[in-house]
Amino acid sequence: MKAWKINCQAMKLFEKLSPGYIYALVLSNVFGGISPYFNIYLSAEIINRLSKGEGTHIFRLVLITIVGNFIITIVNIFLGRWFQHKNELYMEEEKRYLVEKIQLMDYCDIENPKVQQLRRNIIEAARIDARGTGAFADGLCTFTRSITSIIVAAFFFFEMLHVFLESGFGKEGFFWILILIVLVIINVITTFWYQKTEGILAQENAVMLADENRIDEALDCYNKGKDVRLYRQDRFIMPIKKKYLVDIHFDVFSRFFKKVFKYETAPVITRYATEVFTYLFVCIYALKEVFEVGSIIKYIGFMKNMIDSIMNFFQCIGALRFNTPFLEQYMQFYYYPSKMHDGTLVLDKPAGTKYELEFCNVSFSYPESNTYALKNISFKLKEGERIAIVGVNGSGKSTLVKLLCRLYDPTEGEIRLNGINIKNYKYDEYVQLFSAVFQDFKLFSFSLFDNIALSNERDNERAKQCLKLAGFEERLEQLSEGLETSLYKDFDVNGIEISGGEAQKIAIARALYQNTPFILLDEPTAALDPVSEYELYLNFDKISSGKTAVYISHRLSSCRFCDCIFVLDQGELVQTGNHKTLIEDTCGIYRKLWNAQAQYYIK
Ligand code: ADP
Ligand code: MG
Repeated sequence: MKAWKINCQAMKLFEKLSPGYIYALVLSNVFGGISPYFNIYLSAEIINRLSKGEGTHIFRLVLITIVGNFIITIVNIFLGRWFQHKNELYMEEEKRYLVEKIQLMDYCDIENPKVQQLRRNIIEAARIDARGTGAFADGLCTFTRSITSIIVAAFFFFEMLHVFLESGFGKEGFFWILILIVLVIINVITTFWYQKTEGILAQENAVMLADENRIDEALDCYNKGKDVRLYRQDRFIMPIKKKYLVDIHFDVFSRFFKKVFKYETAPVITRYATEVFTYLFVCIYALKEVFEVGSIIKYIGFMKNMIDSIMNFFQCIGALRFNTPFLEQYMQFYYYPSKMHDGTLVLDKPAGTKYELEFCNVSFSYPESNTYALKNISFKLKEGERIAIVGVNGSGKSTLVKLLCRLYDPTEGEIRLNGINIKNYKYDEYVQLFSAVFQDFKLFSFSLFDNIALSNERDNERAKQCLKLAGFEERLEQLSEGLETSLYKDFDVNGIEISGGEAQKIAIARALYQNTPFILLDEPTAALDPVSEYELYLNFDKISSGKTAVYISHRLSSCRFCDCIFVLDQGELVQTGNHKTLIEDTCGIYRKLWNAQAQYYIK
């Protein structure tokens, strides 16, 4: 039942991403399943007429065969191309949908280890033909085609039975028919048994292949080349690669083929036994003039087709069953529900009023975590204020920033904007209040301008001004393509490689370009050299002029120009005040942190 639901969900997804997909699949495969019988039937008819010397009918039948074959070929090509087009569209749309889903998913789910694993699994599955949505589509094609073929063959089978029984062969005839039916049943059983065993073995192999891919990825040396060379890690890595990628792989596969061979022989033997018996049966009774001569072609043709279709049917049922757990992961990911509450309020701030953000007893623990990253935090942030957050690693600084811009919602307590819980505002409107340089910001391999503007509206002057404030002016002057210079070489061979510090300056410029009332800077100078960092501080007044700024830095001296400093320790807000008052608190953490840094500078 569950498998049925998952496969139905997959069909809905195919229809959603490529409308008409299922119709194209069914029509092209039903037609493909029927068309081989057209020739079998007409060839038999022609021979029958020939044997009876009915010349005029033959001419008509030959004409029907030729015209019919032409039409069948054209329709097959048309339906095949139609389906191929829908399939291509689906595959491209699925790639797009994966990216879209990740972008629109709640951020808490993106960071959730379970969801990350799900995403890894479907990317892994997509790399292997026998798994995922591709395997589902293949299975569905074979299923439709083989079912159609079996139904048509059954029709011929009953026709044969009818002709035979009409001829009045009593006991002897019953014996022949019984053997034929028993052979078909044995064929069904042995094929089912073989496909089931092969499916189980293939599943075991697929698990091994997934491990193999993971090992291959984990030991990928391309991005770790410096360390590999320096420490001669190849001597450590290569034997592991050989063990998993060569030795174990071949061992598993040779065992697989030996086992499969054993199970494969039974359906092959029964299949030939059925064919031989059909030949004998039809020929003997054709000699006795029960069947017409042409029927030899007809009945043997359908029998062969039927046995092949039974084989294909069980093969695809096995493949679909084997694929269901993988498909389930796709469906879980693609149908992952959004749990983030989206409010209805719009941000219409009457002129003259100011934004005020307030944390009210906010506590937060990450999903799948049983400790609090933030505990009972309360503070107010008025428009135009600049606050600094300091604290040792893991004290909750970045988490606080994530809560501010609704990447996560508090576990307890609430955050209010102008007295209203931020959950009640429309999400899209609320997040437009913020620009940020996150600790793990990312730049794209697009042009410098696109990285800063992130939109189609062009304001080159503003982009240059922001780059200047972020300290990138000198480097910009060296770039012959200016703002059009591509970052990295993924799309453009003339793209530039940038250092960590330069990337951080671009990220700062990007945040400035957005011109939002709130700017959040999470260790924005960690990768900057001391001169660039100093210049950034000098520019900080301009950077944050009129904005509310939240600034996180380990360099305590750089927090002095903020109106207020918050000290976090193990998720708790332990001190608040300006530098002067905090440094006077001899037992406070701030003083300890300050002294720890100062000792290196004051000698
Ligand atoms: P800081 O920025 O002060 O160094 P963070 O806010 O990043 O600290 O982290 C606070 C605590 O939350 C740490 O104990 C960290 O391990 C944990 N944490 C951070 N991010 C996640 C996450 N995505 N999932 C689970 N725990 C996390
Ligand atoms: Mg942090």
